[in-house]
Amino acid sequence: MTARYDLAVVGAGIVGLAHALAASRRGLRVAVIDRDSRANGASIRNFGFITVTGQSAQTWARAFVTRRIWEELAPQAGIPIVHRNECVIVHSPEALAVLEEFVATHMGAGCELLAAREAVKRVPMARPKSVSGALWSPHELRVEPRTAIPALAAYLEKRWNVTFQRKAAVRAVSATVVETTNETFHAERVVVAPGPDLVTLFPEVHAQHGVRLCKLQMLRLAPQPPSWRLPASIMSDFALVRYKGFSAQPAAAALRKHLEKAEPWIFEYGIHLIVVQSEDGSLVIGDSHDYGATPDPFYSHEIEEAILQLAHGVLDIPNREVMERWIGIYPQSEQCEWFVVAPDTQTRIVQVTTGNGMSTAFGLAEEVIAELCGDATFAGSSKPEL
Ligand SMILES: Cc1cc2nc3c(=O)[nH]c(=O)nc-3n(C[C@H](O)[C@H](O)[C@H](O)COP(=O)(O)OP(=O)(O)OC[C@H]3O[C@@H](n4cnc5c(N)ncnc54)[C@H](O)[C@@H]3O)c2cc1C
Repeated sequence: MTARYDLAVVGAGIVGLAHALAASRRGLRVAVIDRDSRANGASIRNFGFITVTGQSAQTWARAFVTRRIWEELAPQAGIPIVHRNECVIVHSPEALAVLEEFVATHMGAGCELLAAREAVKRVPMARPKSVSGALWSPHELRVEPRTAIPALAAYLEKRWNVTFQRKAAVRAVSATVVETTNETFHAERVVVAPGPDLVTLFPEVHAQHGVRLCKLQMLRLAPQPPSWRLPASIMSDFALVRYKGFSAQPAAAALRKHLEKAEPWIFEYGIHLIVVQSEDGSLVIGDSHDYGATPDPFYSHEIEEAILQLAHGVLDIPNREVMERWIGIYPQSEQCEWFVVAPDTQTRIVQVTTGNGMSTAFGLAEEVIAELCGDATFAGSSKPEL
């Protein structure tokens, strides 16, 4: 006899798991299906940085909801919050001008603009010489993704009786029928959250939204001395031309010009500095951005050098030994930051098409499940104008 579910979710990355959580909390009986035997995608390869400040105006409120849900969930699911806050340390008057404009917007609520001296006091490992100032945001959290994602799946299984079917590739979804390489699932509703697989299910939808893949390069430096603890996730000037909440400020155009001239290779590799710290004191540092239908799978030494040069220019890092190197891939579009498409009344295809799924998935899933359950109309199923 085939089991019947209220919701079947294709994909056990953060987007799929977020929908399983939102549906379970509403009392729905949920099955999650994934082709891999364990988490292996972008959701465990990222920084685990739940970022609110800097998100675009369209996703900022959703990131707040997501942050709140991570905070509620973390103690229940045994997921440690590794650190909090975000500090964007800047090194030019052009970058400071962007921060000044940003804090004056509604998205600057709760954030502080720090003078250079105060910035170095808050982040004592910042290299003081060239600091112009900083933005301090109290809204952020960091989890360790490689343990947090499995812990979230285990919590869904134990607390909410979610069924996980792993090692099963979904071949077709048609209304309430989900055909996998193992068995066929029947569900009242289906959410398809396939991450970077743009061809197996609904390829035309991905094509219509201009989705391609983005390859990122990441590394981990060995544990730092116990007294060296980051008080926040650290970003630098480059965040202000990449994160849309910052880059939408009028002063960002002059900053971009300045950075393109001063450090053209950083632009060439699409590098944007993030440094976060893990419980063992090690540092996760990245990242670069390379776009294409099928980016090459290779790790570049040159890009690593450029990322490290940037990191060591911003922070005085005592232990420089590289312990791990990896790449990650997420779906990306220049047309939209996310999309939700309904190929029929019971199915939703959900994609986060900019690199912020850890920061937005819980909020997005609340909206999608409310709409699927008939409790709301979902405004986000159209493409947001960027
Ligand atoms: C290096 C890197 C750093 C990042 N840093 C951050 C960060 O700090 N903060 C942040 O907010 N975001 C960050 N992101 C972005 C974030 O990781 C992604 O937006 C998010 O993980 C996407 O989640 P997902 O569930 O869509 O995809 P994935 O995690 O890739 O999961 C998709 C799942 O679907 C399964 N699947 C696909 N097709 C099928 C099928 N037909 N049948 C069965 N299973 C299928 C796959 O096996 C996979 O498990 C980063 C991304 C990368 C790569």
